Amino acid sequence: MNTKILLALALIIVIACSAIFVGLQYQADSVIPADKDTLFQLAAFNTFSTGKYAGLMPYNELEKHGDFGIGTLEGLDGEMIALDGEFYHIPSSGPPVKVEPTQTAPYATVTYFEADRTYNVAGFNYTQLKSYLDGQLDTSKDVIYAIKLSGTYEYAQTRSPQKQIEPYPNLTQALKTQAVFNLSQFAGTAVGFWFPASMDGVDYAGYHIHLITDDRTAGGHLLDCIISNATVEVDIINSYRLVLP
Ligand SMILES: [Zn+2]
Repeated sequence: MNTKILLALALIIVIACSAIFVGLQYQADSVIPADKDTLFQLAAFNTFSTGKYAGLMPYNELEKHGDFGIGTLEGLDGEMIALDGEFYHIPSSGPPVKVEPTQTAPYATVTYFEADRTYNVAGFNYTQLKSYLDGQLDTSKDVIYAIKLSGTYEYAQTRSPQKQIEPYPNLTQALKTQAVFNLSQFAGTAVGFWFPASMDGVDYAGYHIHLITDDRTAGGHLLDCIISNATVEVDIINSYRLVLP
């Protein structure tokens, strides 16, 4: 082979290698596949609760990180509940509506829900439910529990904050005008999380649960309830990803 052919071959090899390298780089830079056992959180709770209600991520981006979770919409506009990949907005006016893909969240926690444990409960109010779960789950551990409660309820009291206008008040101030709903005799699903005390401030330590009725006519942030009969599923989460604004 003469020198010209050798040079041409060398050039082809170099171009091919760079193409492969660029290809690999592109793959590495594209969306990191969501770890199914990771909790994905948008904004630290204590920052959000000072009044940081500007939307940080559209829901069509957030939904890539989980099919299950809770949060709110820009301006602290009501409550959000995600269940089986469906994202619902529960405004202070009451009836839930599907979240539009371009609507944004100032705060949210989502994961891919896969039950690790299942319990059956009956006749509990919210306080009794929490102490029952405290007894079943290891609350001394630094883990996050995703909790799904499906069943029938005798009663539930929920709330939804009114959409705020700038300058945004802190969460305590904003919740003074929240709407409160009293629901009776319904089938519904509650979705939420338990965070360990060590993560207090990063998220809300303890139980934080939202609810939606099976007929999708009502819901909100759970304040109280009397469960007739329900299945409680718990997903134990050991990995956590926090996106800071
Ligand atoms: Zn809530």
